[in-house]
Amino acid sequence: MRLQDKVALITGAASGIGRETAVLFASEGAKVVVCDVNDELGKETAKLIEQQGGQAVYVHADISKAEDCKNMVDKAESTFGRLNVMFNNAGIMHSSDDNAETTEESVWDLTMAINLKGVFLGCKYGIPALKRAGGGSIINTASFVAVLGAATPQIAYTASKGGVLAMTRELAVVHARENIRVNSLCPGPLKTELLMKFLDTDAKKQRRLVHVPMGRFGEAKEMAQAALFLASDESSYVTGTDFMVDGGIKAAYVTPE
Ligand code: NAD
Repeated sequence: MRLQDKVALITGAASGIGRETAVLFASEGAKVVVCDVNDELGKETAKLIEQQGGQAVYVHADISKAEDCKNMVDKAESTFGRLNVMFNNAGIMHSSDDNAETTEESVWDLTMAINLKGVFLGCKYGIPALKRAGGGSIINTASFVAVLGAATPQIAYTASKGGVLAMTRELAVVHARENIRVNSLCPGPLKTELLMKFLDTDAKKQRRLVHVPMGRFGEAKEMAQAALFLASDESSYVTGTDFMVDGGIKAAYVTPE
């Protein structure tokens, strides 16, 4: 098993990438701390893990709040004895996030509080715990839009994810000698509720797909597989990367018909 005896904390684990990853990590031997603001679905994730014979605990945590982030890390250590893997994955894509002229300041502030400050707070409280465990792996979910200009504007989201990439690089360098690896996971466009709600017409979906060489949206499961590699010791020499899992979108200038 690829995560035998490891304790992994995953934010946004009530749905999408977070849930798929929680279930996959558990099937690879990890004890999982499932964190989210959606208590019903978060508990369901923990139950799914237990039903397949794994170990999980659900913790309510709004990652934009320092107190909640401290509490989720404390809970990992008090329940399972240590923390080895921190997957800062929770994020939002606000339906009113648009271009610079039309986006409300409140939408900008909320997006930054969750997508960017939430990752900072996860690291602020997660890093001391990883140090106590002798090191570990941090994975921060960014997005392909942080490295490419997206035609569908979402100014706050894009800026927040760019911040995640920059912060991840610095963390990777600063903590490299402490046996802590820090990488960004950059998903391409995925067939998850988050994006499908945002691209709510066929025209919008096609406009996005035209840029993907593989010609399809990715699956949350495919992000979980990449996160598994970054979490496990198989990626022991990988740190500070913008790990693209994007169907080739970043590589494409013109995509095949
Ligand atoms: P999702 O909406 O299915 O899951 C996000 C989860 O985060 C939800 O369970 C939600 O309840 C939780 N969440 C929201 N605000 C929170 C908060 N303040 N504190 C704790 N939890 C909170 O979406 P997903 O597609 O699985 O997204 C996961 C990550 O992947 C996000 O960071 C997202 O930006 C990123 N991402 C998604 C796509 C895509 O196409 N879906 C592409 C690139 C990046």
